[in-house]
Amino acid sequence: MSRYAQVIVDLSAEALDRVFTYVVPEDMEAVPGQLVTVPFGSRVREGFVVSLSDACELPPEKLKPLLKTVRAEPVVLPDLMALAEWMHIRYLCNLVDALRLMLPAQMRGGRVREKTSRRARLALSGEALEAFIEENRRAPKQLELIERLRGGDIQTAQLDAAALRALVKKGAVEICEDEARRTPLALRDATRTVDPELMPEQRAAVERLTAALESGGGRFLLHGITGSGKTEVYIRLIRRALELGRTAIVLVPEIALTPQMVAWLHGRFGGDAAVLHSALSAGERFDEWRRIRSGEARVVIGARSAIFAPLQNIGVIVVDEEHETTYQSDRRPRYDAREVAWKRAVQHGAVLVLGSATPSVATYMRAMPGVRPENRLELIELRQRVKGRPMPGVEIVDMRGEFERGNRSIFSARLAAELRKCLDEGHQAMLFINRRGHSTFVSCRACGYVVHCDHCDVTMTYHQTENALRCHYCGKVMAPPKQCPQCGSGYIKYFGAGTQKVQEEVRRLFPDARPVRMDVDTTRQKDAHARILQRFGSGEANVLVGTQMIAKGLDFPNVALVGVVAADLSLNLPDYRSVERTFQLITQVAGRAGRAEVPGRVIVQTYDPDHYGIQLAAAQDYRAFYTRESAYRRAAMYPPFTVIARIVYSGKDADAVKAAAKADEARLGAFLDETGARADAIQLAAAEAPIRQIRGEYRWQLLLKLYFKADLDTVEARMQAMADAAPEGVQADLEINPNNLF
Ligand code: ADP
Ligand code: ZN
Ligand code: ZN
Repeated sequence: MSRYAQVIVDLSAEALDRVFTYVVPEDMEAVPGQLVTVPFGSRVREGFVVSLSDACELPPEKLKPLLKTVRAEPVVLPDLMALAEWMHIRYLCNLVDALRLMLPAQMRGGRVREKTSRRARLALSGEALEAFIEENRRAPKQLELIERLRGGDIQTAQLDAAALRALVKKGAVEICEDEARRTPLALRDATRTVDPELMPEQRAAVERLTAALESGGGRFLLHGITGSGKTEVYIRLIRRALELGRTAIVLVPEIALTPQMVAWLHGRFGGDAAVLHSALSAGERFDEWRRIRSGEARVVIGARSAIFAPLQNIGVIVVDEEHETTYQSDRRPRYDAREVAWKRAVQHGAVLVLGSATPSVATYMRAMPGVRPENRLELIELRQRVKGRPMPGVEIVDMRGEFERGNRSIFSARLAAELRKCLDEGHQAMLFINRRGHSTFVSCRACGYVVHCDHCDVTMTYHQTENALRCHYCGKVMAPPKQCPQCGSGYIKYFGAGTQKVQEEVRRLFPDARPVRMDVDTTRQKDAHARILQRFGSGEANVLVGTQMIAKGLDFPNVALVGVVAADLSLNLPDYRSVERTFQLITQVAGRAGRAEVPGRVIVQTYDPDHYGIQLAAAQDYRAFYTRESAYRRAAMYPPFTVIARIVYSGKDADAVKAAAKADEARLGAFLDETGARADAIQLAAAEAPIRQIRGEYRWQLLLKLYFKADLDTVEARMQAMADAAPEGVQADLEINPNNLF
């Protein structure tokens, strides 16, 4: 029996990012992955047992003992323990931060919800119970417990453990584990559905993937146009995995936005399916986690963090809509779920499937010839829509022409006419605009003054429903000015449209329309997404207005028209991926039309109709887009051909923030020279961040652009060390190829 345990203490601090050795008491059984309590300093802390040993180099009298196990079974399985160690190195995070991702929050910090799992109930009643009480007059603690249980079952965690044990032994109380689990809304009322017959391309895809599953795994990019039936391919593959006694994970960008995917998987897999994501209540999440851990649920559907689901013997990992930015965490540990999925798939000999109609440029590049085998994805394509349904016809409308003809509305004549026709025919429409609120900036016509947030370097957005200006970065709310604060004029005007304005215009121009809106503002409440989509799905609403929330995998058969109200919004962002994002958004949202019997039409409104991103999205030509975009990235030296590493400095004191960035610029420059890495650096510069202030904090950035072949690990480690050593009052965060460069 091992006498020593190496423990990671559950405290996040650089200085504690190492194992501490404890003695395992005689009467305790310790296993790796277990959550235990240990004496630490003058306090009791939780920790993870990472390994055990028989010998120890430290003098035994200096060691303290483990106190107790929080749960008997290991909470972190060996493969996840290894994954955490890999993340620790790959993402430069503390080991404990990686471990924390692997179990539901309420299992830690003594908040273990034992009460949901085990209840105590009286095993005796009537005379037998009275007799028992009489016989046990001398055991007041036990009697008190009996009295409490007379009022109904009680979670064991709330009862005195010794008294409970005695009562169970005597047969007066029994423990039951048949608790009613909290079923997430997404899984309620799902009906079991039957398999459709596969289309030839789907069948070929399933055959290729199952062959890989049966021969040690593989890594694939499933590139299927919108409506080509990718989900059905996942389902058949997972079915085979289950037959082979293996398990599966399906990652989706956001559960709330993909209720149909959840419903489909649940429809096919019933109680075998579990969902894991952040919008679940704490109790729901804990219950699902335990169902997975116990092997009862074998198919896990979830957002990013579901990649850490405690499944054993994984056969399939699917990352649906792999191009979505939500797979990359923007908090430490800054992991990329696609990369973790890759790692986990290799560990388990599983099949990894990245699926998308619009793969990210970086992912697609890995499916092209010339990539080293260990980094390579095998490309599988679905080029046809299910049942030979046509792709919707896409029309580009030049908004400059509308303006010249005197149309000041946000709807072009074409879009308005198509919307009229769509409604008259009893079909449904989706109107997409990637901006929430009503008007995006408020400005004085006399002097040009624009209302900005006091705390952030951004304009305030007008929200009509509350008649207020809101900052989308810090949430500050203010009343709209009646007079210009700068020149006093009364000519205050509202410019730019958001979702509220579009909804209002639909109401004004089409009194018979029944629009619903889906954006951050209408979906703050739990399950609000599902309710909005339900209203649209049932036909109660016939126009769905929304932000990118409506661009993802929605599948409504009656949608005949999709309108992209302002295609340029995402095009003009100061980010090298703005064209890619625009292409993805237009292609995805256009793909929502004409998915069943009703043929679809798409109208794209733009001020830049000749832009290749818009043209190629309208043509739904991914390959041409990729060729064009990757040539641009290569020429302009942007990722995936290079790596962007950036430290963002922020703080209340503008001078201190600037000084920190400047000092690190010099240090990093010297480091590059010393190590010879300078030759691999394309650009090194400290400058104000594109958004100079957020929440009253000033922002600077140190940006380093490197060739891909550079010794990244060393440079990143150096930058992380610099960020960790930022001066008092300055927050510094290292980001590698971040989603946003603002
Ligand atoms: P994608 O994710 O590729 O856009 P989906 O997986 O959403 O496509 O499938 C589009 C629609 O086609 C869904 O309603 C799905 O149920 C249906 N579908 C998929 N495969 C088949 C098939 N073989 N026969 C009939 N309908 C199918
Ligand atoms: Zn003015
Ligand atoms: Zn603000």
